[in-house]
Amino acid sequence: MHVPYCVRKCPYCDFYSSVDLASVPVFLESLAREMEMVGGTDQVFDTLYVGGGTPSVLEPDGIARIIETAHKHFTIRTDLEITLEVNPGTIFREKLAEYRQAGVNRLNIGVQSFHHENLKFLGRIHSVEEAVACIASARQTGFDNIGLDLIYGLPGQDKKNWLSDLRRALETETEHLSGYMLTCESGTPLSREVKSGRIQWPEGGVVRELFDTTIEFLTTHGFLQYEISNFARKTDDGLEPRYSRHNQKYWSFVPYIGLGPSAHSFITPQRYWNHRSIENYVRHIKAGHLPIAEKEELTREQMIMEAIFLGLRTTRGIDLIGFEKMFGLNFIKIYKGKIVDLEKDRLLNLTNTHCALTPKGMAYLDGIAAIFTGQDIS
Ligand code: SF4
Repeated sequence: MHVPYCVRKCPYCDFYSSVDLASVPVFLESLAREMEMVGGTDQVFDTLYVGGGTPSVLEPDGIARIIETAHKHFTIRTDLEITLEVNPGTIFREKLAEYRQAGVNRLNIGVQSFHHENLKFLGRIHSVEEAVACIASARQTGFDNIGLDLIYGLPGQDKKNWLSDLRRALETETEHLSGYMLTCESGTPLSREVKSGRIQWPEGGVVRELFDTTIEFLTTHGFLQYEISNFARKTDDGLEPRYSRHNQKYWSFVPYIGLGPSAHSFITPQRYWNHRSIENYVRHIKAGHLPIAEKEELTREQMIMEAIFLGLRTTRGIDLIGFEKMFGLNFIKIYKGKIVDLEKDRLLNLTNTHCALTPKGMAYLDGIAAIFTGQDIS
């Protein structure tokens, strides 16, 4: 569910969101109507991700309404994972308690950094203290499945600065950590600053060192990497680490439905996405139409490429049996030569069931995926 509102736009962000909250009631009404329109299928859902934007700008009754409406129109497993993305600048303890009462059982907190100057550069609305208080309140209100988002690769950031962010994150005993590399998206205020030369973009080597540091530090401090940017804390009781059940779906190429302005859906072999602006989205719903802006039908070849790219993002790698079932192709036979070369360079590991990048290979994900996807398989 895409909640398209933010308190203020961050200069690096190119997600669709509005800072005018006046349309929240009509948005919530439209979202409920959209659920009614697309629901009622036999499909069973086991995750609900309320993202954005900044969904925590919504009052708890707004989030409760989204969750209740989802239960009304969709077939939902009893152990549903319900994640709410939270911005520490929008949170206080009672609000978190009410989100929990509404059914939210996983929080993804956008901390981004534990350094004031980094938060200032990123244009975040919250302080370090507010981020720390938000995590503490989440614990006090009973959340036992918390993920933190951090960003690295800021201009001027060095290894010491990034390592101290990672250390502070570990001190919170978070169950899950995502470390995202800052990207310069065209059309954002950040990209204009970089183009004008007022901001010096970090060199590849520096960012590469921070990327390697993330994997090395977290995997030696009790975390399991399961995707290029995602890590889950190992448990002491032998239970499975708290992976994001929801995000794993994107990487394993299973269908999902996205609702709300600019939300994307994937129902094999179609990908489609909703109108980006709240106005257009609401207008379509009010007229009784699904608010779909565009659809594309993936060709078999495109599906193969996506399955390879997404599989290589994960540490488990491409599921070779699933790949053969889905496409009738033996991955090892088709790519034998390339696999041998990449294995020699210690960029790839092959087992009987999976083909995965090594930590070294992860740094070259795009290039390696292009090697596979560039091959003619017809
Ligand atoms: S709070 Fe999140 S969605 Fe909103 S502008 Fe900042 S990065 Fe983008």
